[in-house]
Amino acid sequence: MDRPATVGQALVRARAMGLDRLDAQLLLGHQLQRERAWLIAHDDDELEAAAAAAFAQACQRRADGEPLAYLTGERGFHGLRLRVTPDVLVPRPDTETLVDWALDLLRTWPPKPPPRVLDLGTGSGAIALAVAHAHPAARLSATDLSLAALVVAQANAQRLALVVEFAAGTWWQALPGDARFDLVLSNPPYIAGDDPHLPSLRHEPMLALTPGGDGLGALREIIAGAPAHLASGGWLLLEHGWDQADAVAALLRSAGFEQVATRFDLEGRPRCTGARSPAPASATGKA
Ligand code: GLN
Repeated sequence: MDRPATVGQALVRARAMGLDRLDAQLLLGHQLQRERAWLIAHDDDELEAAAAAAFAQACQRRADGEPLAYLTGERGFHGLRLRVTPDVLVPRPDTETLVDWALDLLRTWPPKPPPRVLDLGTGSGAIALAVAHAHPAARLSATDLSLAALVVAQANAQRLALVVEFAAGTWWQALPGDARFDLVLSNPPYIAGDDPHLPSLRHEPMLALTPGGDGLGALREIIAGAPAHLASGGWLLLEHGWDQADAVAALLRSAGFEQVATRFDLEGRPRCTGARSPAPASATGKA
């Protein structure tokens, strides 16, 4: 039998399999339940055969394109550590743009009554939980079509001791017809059905990535239903593809929204477009 690999050798082998340095360290650290600093200080330690084999297997899966977050079972998002499984989209830094925008709006919101915030298609719960954590005065609701995703989101809420009311169903259909919110957020599936980028995301739930067609189907459905579920003066903020800002802005305007604006992600791409629902006509006349 071969001499067992050392920590350093295992990391070199991982690089040779195509992993980048950080992924290799994070995976081995996860395997050994150690910090990266420990790995560096214990470069010459021999790995137990079982740990070495499990690490090699995880490296193979990573080399085949499985997201690191599925292999370690967790991902950082907006200062929270979230559990993730292949039942949910891996939360991405791009989506922090949406959360930051929501928090900017909430900062100026009157605290009473508590602002009602909804995350449509919550997946791991990332958006709802980040808002609940950073703005405890808000009352959070979140939906998902996938029951498996709701199990993950609920477990994250429990672990983080954050309160979110979850509901199952397609977009607005998950909610009672008379439910109203001050702020609605969503990172829906928006990749076009024929986008060449899709196959590289095959390990993630396709339901969360693409509605098929031109990629705008879910955004259209959310915008169409929003006026009936927003309080007057409420905001709808949507994440979208880098080339969809104009289309989303046009959809919002034709649904009667005002103050249409776009925010950019860390790489400078237009990533979120949002708008405000007008006060109902009755607000200017007799109620
Ligand atoms: N931003 C993701 C990607 O392009 C897609 C997320 C989504 O469709 N909501 O990888």
